[in-house]
Amino acid sequence: MTTSNKSVKKNSNPRPHIGNAFEVSLCTEVNQACPNCGNPLFISKSGKRWRNYEIAHIYPLNPTAQEINLLKGEKRLSIDPNHEDNLIPLCFPCHNIYDNPKTVAGYRDLVKKKENIIRLRVQQNVFSQYHLEIEISKIIESLCKDDAQFDESPLNEAKRVDDKLDTTITPFAKRKIKNDVTSFYLFVRDRFADLERSEPGKAVLIAHQVKTFYLKQKTLSTNQQEIFENVVSWIKSKHSSSSETAAEVIAAFYVQNCELFE
Ligand SMILES: [Zn+2]
Repeated sequence: MTTSNKSVKKNSNPRPHIGNAFEVSLCTEVNQACPNCGNPLFISKSGKRWRNYEIAHIYPLNPTAQEINLLKGEKRLSIDPNHEDNLIPLCFPCHNIYDNPKTVAGYRDLVKKKENIIRLRVQQNVFSQYHLEIEISKIIESLCKDDAQFDESPLNEAKRVDDKLDTTITPFAKRKIKNDVTSFYLFVRDRFADLERSEPGKAVLIAHQVKTFYLKQKTLSTNQQEIFENVVSWIKSKHSSSSETAAEVIAAFYVQNCELFE
């Protein structure tokens, strides 16, 4: 599909007029890269940016009889083919491959990719709604200092993590959380204690905020892997300079401290 106004066959769905903001948002959702091959959606030439994509309908706008039959019983992301949930930018070659001919495998793959995008979009809204005191940055910065010294926790401490995590979290993530607890729990706990002394109530408030965010996540998913990753991204989103690693350490601290996965 293109965004130009072409003549429309009788009884067929009209091509949507896609405004600039709408198109920009669809491109931003895929990080300005074709979700199928990773090629950039924009090309720089002669000091200008040129589009290297088309907006594809995941479920066809005007499916042929063959496509209707092929996709019968398949999940639809929206009944309206022009709904944003059914649209995704693809580079020209990938759009051509996707449409000619349409395959069930290709359709399912793109549905899955778009579902992940929609999930992220929902999370972005949640992230902005749930506040986290700015003082969390003090803890994150202390982790990243050149002279930071970390005393390891006794090994049996991290074993408690096993009781809280189920099979919806990968063994890799579980091991990483346990390692972070062993290596950094005491350090982070002491920094929160320092914060509590200098600003009474602040560390307790932050712990409550983490708990509240977790409870919200629990209403959206039962998958611990997904929830943990969202907690990390949320912490990171509240402290722009924080590394993923530091945010993971803070999230692991709250697993051990029972705010997460109680
Ligand atoms: Zn592509």
